[in-house]
Amino acid sequence: MKILLNNSDLNEALSGISNLGFVPTMGSLHKGHLSLIKKSLKNCSNTLVSIFVNPTQFNNKKDYINYPRSLKKDLLILKKLKINFVYLPNKKDIYDSNIKKKPTLNKKDKIMCAKYRKGHFEGVIDVMDRLTKKIRPKMIFMGEKDYQQLYLVKKFIKKKYKSQIISCKTIRDKNKLALSSRNLLLKKKDQFNAGRIAQNLIFFKKKLTKQKNINIFIDNKKKELEELFDISIEYLELRNSLNFKNTKKIKNSRLFISYYLNKIRLIDNF
Ligand code: AMP
Repeated sequence: MKILLNNSDLNEALSGISNLGFVPTMGSLHKGHLSLIKKSLKNCSNTLVSIFVNPTQFNNKKDYINYPRSLKKDLLILKKLKINFVYLPNKKDIYDSNIKKKPTLNKKDKIMCAKYRKGHFEGVIDVMDRLTKKIRPKMIFMGEKDYQQLYLVKKFIKKKYKSQIISCKTIRDKNKLALSSRNLLLKKKDQFNAGRIAQNLIFFKKKLTKQKNINIFIDNKKKELEELFDISIEYLELRNSLNFKNTKKIKNSRLFISYYLNKIRLIDNF
C-alpha cells in the first residue's frame, strides 16, 4: 500500500494507472467503509482510499474539531485490506486549484439535510469535484447511509466527469444502528437507544404500506419517538428515492430521519 501525502505523490503514483476505484472517506474507518472498499477491490484493478476531514462541509466549527480521528488505526486496517493507495491530503492540497466558484444547490434540492445544515452539501460537492478532478477514477464508491449526499454528488459528477458513482448498501450493527464514525461520540446507553430507534423505524416503514393517511401516521410517529427516547427530530419524511419528491406511495420510497440524541446529530434512511 502506497501512502500518498500530497499532490505530487498522488500524480506520480497514478500516472499510467487505469481502472481505478476510489473510496472517499473522512477516516475513523468502520465496517461501513470496509464494505465500499471491498466492492472497489472486487470491481477495479486498483483501489485508492482518501482520508480527509473536509472543513468546508462542516457548518459548525465545534463539530469539525470534535469529529473523530484515528489515522494510525485506519492505516493498519487499510494495509490489511491490501488496497493500492491511501491519499492523505492537507487542506492546501485540496484547495489549491483554480476551481473558485463554490457549487450551489437548486431550490428544489434544499430539503432535509440541505435545509438544516446550511452549506454542508455545497462543501461536499466542492470537495468531491476537486478530488475527482485530481484522481480521475473509473468508479467512485459511496454509501446509501448518506442517501441525500449520494443523490446530489451523483447528479453533479455525472454532468462533469466520466467517473461512475456506485452506491453501496448501508451496513448496520447487530442492533440495527447504521454504522457511522459519529457513533464513537455516543455513550453506550445512547448507542443502545439509537439502535432501538432504527429497529422501530424499520418496522414502521414495513407497516406504512397498509396505511391510508400516511402523513398523519408519520407525524404521530415523530411525536412518539421524541417522547419515548427524549430526542429532537429535525425531519422524518417519506420521499421518492429517485427524484426526492415528497410522496405518499411506498413504492420507490425511503423514510429519512435526522435527529439529535444528547447533542449528537444522527441521520438514517429506511
Ligand atoms: P464518511 O467517512 O462518513 O464521510 O463516509 C465515507 C463513505 O462511507 C460515504 O460514502 C458514506 O456514505 C459511506 N458510509 C458511511 N457509513 C456507512 C455505512 N454504515 N454503510 C455503508 N456506507 C457507509
